[in-house]
Amino acid sequence: MKVVRTRADLRAALHDAPRPVGLVPTMGWLHAGHTSLIERARADSATVVVSIFVNPRQFGQTADFTMYPRNEARDLETCERAGVDLVFAPSVDEVYPPGFDTLVSVGAIAVPLEGAARPGHFDGVATVVAILFSLVGVERAYFGLKDYQQVRVIRRMALDLALPTEVVACATVREPDGLALSSRNARLSPAGRAAAPVLHRALLEGEARLRAGERNADTVRAAMRGVLATEPRAEVDYVSVADPDTLAELATVEGGALLSLAATIDGVRLIDNARVG
Ligand code: AMP
Repeated sequence: MKVVRTRADLRAALHDAPRPVGLVPTMGWLHAGHTSLIERARADSATVVVSIFVNPRQFGQTADFTMYPRNEARDLETCERAGVDLVFAPSVDEVYPPGFDTLVSVGAIAVPLEGAARPGHFDGVATVVAILFSLVGVERAYFGLKDYQQVRVIRRMALDLALPTEVVACATVREPDGLALSSRNARLSPAGRAAAPVLHRALLEGEARLRAGERNADTVRAAMRGVLATEPRAEVDYVSVADPDTLAELATVEGGALLSLAATIDGVRLIDNARVG
């Protein structure tokens, strides 16, 4: 496994690399959710590239960026064990050199939910992913459905900018108690960790209501909020029942729905979602 830190070294390392190339973009602090993406990329690709970069442009508050957990040595071991060929672990200046002044801003699909809760977040995501796609010249890139809206934003961006990269969406990996794996879980206190599965329980409740025939989206939202309210540590940010294609909030659920929510526990912001139908 080779580790490169500059744009030039990444291009050079990929020049003669066997194709197809699969890319897994990450912010590090790798867990089983990330390794599931790496395994999928390994199965499809002759060369697997993992990027490890905590992208300052997708964080609203500097504190959130500084507090983001980091452990490169452990991440490199995880990559090595998972059969990664190449790791790109650049500095902030390498990704955004002095004078950098371009923003990739995706439209309507990036507006609601995480876009509304975290202004500028998806501009930061789309910009860094566009740079990665263009540097790696990648045939496929792998993203987790845990960040459902992110997958949709990146697909839109790749299509609109004619980037020849197939965006592959992979299922959410969960702890046995239902909590979606996330690098942020590391910042939860033991009590916060015990409280966190309430997000998944709320999604299960919403799903159960829909499967039982409930069609009123407000009733489903209220049921999900009701479950979240059982956990005093959970501060709800949003609870959504939306069209899975447009992410517009639904009044009535006729076809499929995307249930999603965001809540802060112990100052740690967690998100999760479930697609129904
Ligand atoms: P991050 O390092 O949090 O930016 O995540 C890097 C990639 O891993 C993104 O495509 C995430 O959607 C994906 N990912 C994060 N957590 C999970 C999970 N629990 N299951 C599946 N994919 C995940």
